[in-house]
Amino acid sequence: MKVRAVVFDLFNTLTEPVDDVEFRASVRAMSLAAGVDPDGFTKRWFDLWRERFDGTFGTTDEDVRGVCAAMGARVDSAAVERAVKIRVDFSRRSLKPRADAVATLAQVRALGFKTGLISDCSADLPDLWPTTPYAALIDEPVFSCVEGLIKPDPGIFHRACERLGAAPENCTYVGDGSNHELTGASRIGMRAVLIRTPEKSAAVYHSERTSWRGEAVDTLSEIPELLRSGRDV
Ligand SMILES: [Mg+2]
Repeated sequence: MKVRAVVFDLFNTLTEPVDDVEFRASVRAMSLAAGVDPDGFTKRWFDLWRERFDGTFGTTDEDVRGVCAAMGARVDSAAVERAVKIRVDFSRRSLKPRADAVATLAQVRALGFKTGLISDCSADLPDLWPTTPYAALIDEPVFSCVEGLIKPDPGIFHRACERLGAAPENCTYVGDGSNHELTGASRIGMRAVLIRTPEKSAAVYHSERTSWRGEAVDTLSEIPELLRSGRDV
């Protein structure tokens, strides 16, 4: 039987959009906790997003150490630990589901679709994942920092489809458009759907939020209806 699946992005898609000001304040708070220059730390935290997301650093400890090393700052274990705690607390808060996320995932499964996830993320996410409400509702999560692949690399979309046992043409991808994920998904043959997010939400990594011309929804609760319509997935 044909396996059909819906693959979701996580941040700003299943989660409540994160406010960009709050996001940047949390990075600044990490630098203060680590006792290093806030501007230098913040710049390199964003500059080194790839190393944090593709698993080069590998752990949240190493994310902090790597960023401090890049700015030539020496930090001891206690300083790293304080910064890591702020990061993990922020990540936990930023995982708050959109109001309709849990119900939508349950409906999608009830319609007979498997559920997947592709998240461009740093090491804190796979650690927190089992504690989230998503874990029980997502059949196959794929994390960039574990796979060593970042969107829009076709490899990460293929990996999600393989884990689900579904052909790309039988998969719908839903995301807020960060890292050109919608273009990436559609390039391998998935049906790609933008979920619109507020302008002030954090989308620091190469967003196609305003340039996407394909299908789009305003809320996750529109997804079950969308699956019944349009392309036969
Ligand atoms: Mg996102």
